[in-house]
Amino acid sequence: MTAVATKYETVIGLEVHCQLLTKSKMFCGCSADYSGADPNTHVCPVCMGMPGVLPVINEQAIEYITMTGLALNCEISGFSKFDRKNYPYPDLMKGYQISQYDLPVCHDGWLEIAPEGQDPRRIGITRVHMEEDTARLLHRTDDVTGENYTLVDINRSGTPLMEIVSEPDMRSPAEARDYLVRLRQILRYIGVSEANMEDGNFRCDANVSLRPVGSATFGTKVEVKNMNSFRAVHDAIAFEEIRQAGMLDRGERIIQETRGWVDERNETVSQRTKEHANDYRYFPEPDLPPLKLSGKYVADVRAKLPELPQSRFERFVVLGISAHDAEALTEARERADYFEAVARAINLEPRKDAKLAANWVLGEVGRWLNAHNREIGEFPLDPEQLAGLARLVDEGKVTSNVGKEVFEQMVTSGKGAAEIIEASGLAQISGEDQLLTAVRNAIAANPKAVADYQSGKTSTIMFLVGQVMRETRGRANAGVVQGLLEKE
Ligand code: ADP
Ligand code: ZN
Ligand code: MG
Repeated sequence: MTAVATKYETVIGLEVHCQLLTKSKMFCGCSADYSGADPNTHVCPVCMGMPGVLPVINEQAIEYITMTGLALNCEISGFSKFDRKNYPYPDLMKGYQISQYDLPVCHDGWLEIAPEGQDPRRIGITRVHMEEDTARLLHRTDDVTGENYTLVDINRSGTPLMEIVSEPDMRSPAEARDYLVRLRQILRYIGVSEANMEDGNFRCDANVSLRPVGSATFGTKVEVKNMNSFRAVHDAIAFEEIRQAGMLDRGERIIQETRGWVDERNETVSQRTKEHANDYRYFPEPDLPPLKLSGKYVADVRAKLPELPQSRFERFVVLGISAHDAEALTEARERADYFEAVARAINLEPRKDAKLAANWVLGEVGRWLNAHNREIGEFPLDPEQLAGLARLVDEGKVTSNVGKEVFEQMVTSGKGAAEIIEASGLAQISGEDQLLTAVRNAIAANPKAVADYQSGKTSTIMFLVGQVMRETRGRANAGVVQGLLEKE
């Protein structure tokens, strides 16, 4: 434990902004998929903030935020509304952002975290609300005059943005990172967002405070922004722990402020203090009706939710998969789907199917995907093909080493396992007559090993088994070979 951790307790609450994968923007019909598009081509009078236009709520976005709320164990509000959050900034086309203030779509949920080596623990979700994204500012310097200027790209303006606010329930940088990893995993499972921090469609602000160990009240918090990766969030919080502990040790008071993480320097720097905080002058959005979600609507959305990672994890563990492997198998929904399809296709006995499928998916398939830098969705073998191979190895038709060779050939040729084994004579040899010559050759060629064996060093038999395997190109049944060697 660090010195900081024995004296002070860290308190962390996270605010995550996440872009939704809707076809159109939040309040207009413009396409929300502007990646790679020329600047200012996905625009209309609504998202450009022209006067006299009227916003319309995107139904798909409401379905996605409802799914998110349900996946995060939230209450879904039967009645919520939109509000205007007013602040002047060039990236805000209307001079206000449509957001939700006192009545968000979702509230009072939780997310279970389980950082490495810690028991699972629930982190409270305060609220999930709907808002719109801003335009993008591009800061430039003129080549000739050296003058600074800023370009505005309105494509992002008005795209649906969901904000997920946690309770101040996390106590370490590792817990904060685990929260983000699991939140991203859930958002991807339910398919509402790409949730990619590096691409900016999943952004996180961290609120961090310290209090003396044993204290029941919270200390003054600092809000940290500008992190572009999970590692940066982790490191920024760790930096704040040390900075704030130093201040407290020196008897200084923490001031409530917003700080920015500077990745190149591995530190946070002050951006603005509370005295300069914005007064957003929230008021109800007069151009939008309140949002009413019926119990039936919420039940219908719930019925569309896929099985969540936690539940799948528990199911896999019940099938005898280790917690470590179950965690790896459920990391992405596509991988869990593939694993389950392979297990189903093996179809011998549930626990055995699961074990065989897990070994192949986390073993050879994982290695192949890593080596070729591909995702499971791009893996060339369908689950039935892989299951066919898994069964042949399990039945002893080929040895497990040969199985790996067949796997490679299947992936490159697209042929089935049985066909490859037939064509290349890779089938395991179990017949004593077929193996006898190789056994006798091994004995004749290795008199020293034979003498060692006869003088009581029985472990040398494995060396002789290895020689027979080499001669048969790995196809011999090792058990049969050993029996023959002993007899001979
Ligand atoms: P603000 O009024 O500054 O927006 P909120 O109470 O709305 O503050 O909380 C914003 C975020 O800060 C939430 O994620 C919350 O959990 C977190 N938070 C609140 N108080 C603290 C604290 N003392 N230490 C750390 N995080 C906090
Ligand atoms: Zn538009
Ligand atoms: Mg707040």
